[in-house]
Formats: sequence, structure tokens, C-alpha cells
Amino acid sequence: MNTREMFKRAVAGGYAIPAFNFNTMEQMQAIVMAAVETKSPVIMQVSKGARNYANGTILRNLAKGAVEYAKELGCEHPEIVLHLDHGDTFELCKDCIDNGFSSVMIDGSSLPYEENIALAKKVVDYAHQFDVTVEAELGVLAGVEDEVAAAESHYTKPEEVIDFSTRTGCDSLAISIGTSHGAHKFTPEQCTLVNGVLVPPPLAFDILHEIEKKLPGFPIVLHGSSSVPMEEVNTINKYGGHLEAAIGIPEEQLREASKSAVCKINIDSDSRLAMTAAIRKHLAEHPGDFDPRQYLKPARENMKKMYIHKIVNVLGSDGKLAQQ
Ligand SMILES: [Zn+2]
Repeated sequence: MNTREMFKRAVAGGYAIPAFNFNTMEQMQAIVMAAVETKSPVIMQVSKGARNYANGTILRNLAKGAVEYAKELGCEHPEIVLHLDHGDTFELCKDCIDNGFSSVMIDGSSLPYEENIALAKKVVDYAHQFDVTVEAELGVLAGVEDEVAAAESHYTKPEEVIDFSTRTGCDSLAISIGTSHGAHKFTPEQCTLVNGVLVPPPLAFDILHEIEKKLPGFPIVLHGSSSVPMEEVNTINKYGGHLEAAIGIPEEQLREASKSAVCKINIDSDSRLAMTAAIRKHLAEHPGDFDPRQYLKPARENMKKMYIHKIVNVLGSDGKLAQQ
């Protein structure tokens, strides 16, 4: 399904839909198991980097399998969106639309304003013929995500959002209010030390609220919203890893954002951390294991646990399927 009704209900209901990235079968299974157990709608998203890694045909068939799998797990009416994350050209978006994606993002945020509008409008005009929904982006996030990288962030300018959404016809808008891509969102220097924990600068809720005022009820998207749980980072480092100064977005802030017009929150790094932590721990404790199923099973379990936690305790999308 596309995101239209899903977002309408999420904005009205004061919760956000989880958008989890996936590259592997185990991630897909963990996402579906978590969504079914919590009766949550879910967006499964594929980046350009994921397509390069796993192949686009394989990923979209995995997503098709995800719907069947959800039904097999006992969910009669699953709500699953297959979404392209950070499409950077019309051609890439068109290819996904032509091949069964129900939603795409066109990210022209690094382009000059008028070019961003022209590109987004072109994708919207094509996508809407097939009832595919489109996410566009205004403002620039810092950080690195697959092939998307920017050294500096530029907050979304609230004075541009009406013009942008009207002229592009986009269905949702990704904004920049201080979230960031990757597992190293902030340097320790940018943070404040509170009770021995590095706390990053707060999200710019004033900008979010101004945008909400300009576009009442319009679906807003937050990228780069992993919280980078310390326990996973510590497990990775305890069992031979070396992650330094990994800092994410505090979950309380995401919980607060979920109650606003923010109706889609992207989480990718936390899944990577959960998977890697479980694999490192398993292999350290079972040095004789060499069957991938032996260490991918706890990895899948750990990701599922993390997805359920996000759905229930952070985004509030549990129990929100239209038909239970
Ligand atoms: Zn992103």
C-alpha cells in the first residue's frame, strides 16, 4: 500500500510510522515479525546503497514476500509500504515505480531551490499516475548515509514549505531540524555532559512547530533518527569492536516529535548496531561456530527486539492497523 491513509491516521492520532531500512533477509524478517506482533503499520525502505548491495529485484521480491509472510504469521490485513529511500534521479524513482514500489523519496535537497521543485514535481507527476506516494525534502541533514553525505546541515526554512509543497504536489515532506544520518551524529564537543552521558543539542522544535502552523496536518518526515543505544555500542566494543563517540538522537525527543505532524521516522543505524552487537557477542562466546544461521539467528532476534521497542515505546504505532 502507499502512505496516504497511513499518514493521515498517524498525524490525526499523534503517532509516527516506523520506516526501517533493510538490505538482508534477516532484517526483513525481523521487521515483519515486529510489525505483526505489535499490530503496527510499517514502511520497509530500500536505499540506493541497498540496491547496489543486494540487487533491486531481490529486494522488491523480499518485500513482496514480507506481505505474504505477515499473513502467514497471522496478520490478516498487514499494512506494509515498500519505499525508495533517497532516490536521487527521476530515472531511479521511475524504475522503482515501474517495479512495484508503493512509495518513493526524491531527494533534491542538495540542489538549488527551483531545481529541487522541478525534479520533485516531475517525480510526483509520474508517480501519481500509478497511485504511488512521493516524499520530497527541503533542508539538508548532516552525516553520512550510504551515498548521501553532507558536511553541514541547513535547517528547513519554514517560509518555503507552503510554496514547495504546493508546487511539487508531494505527499510528505522530509525536513531538517537537527537529526543527522549515521551512527556518529554529533561530536562530543557539540554535546553536554549530563551525569556522565553525552547529551546532544535538542531538535529544533520551534522550526517544526512553525512548519506545522504553515501546513496544518501535512505529513512531515524525520530522517537520521536512530538513537544509537549505548548498550549496543558497548557490546560491540566489549567483543572486539571499536566504535568511538557514537551518538544518536535521544528517544524522548523522537517520542515528542511523534506526537506532532511528524508521521514517519527513519531508523537505520540502530538496526545495524543491533545486528553487529549480537553477531560479535555470539562469535566471541562460541568461537567454534561457523554456520551463519548460528549467529544470524540471535542477530535477527536482537533486531526484532529493537524494532518492537521503537514501535511501542518511541513511535506509538502499536495497535494502529486499520483492520486488526
Ligand atoms: Zn535519510
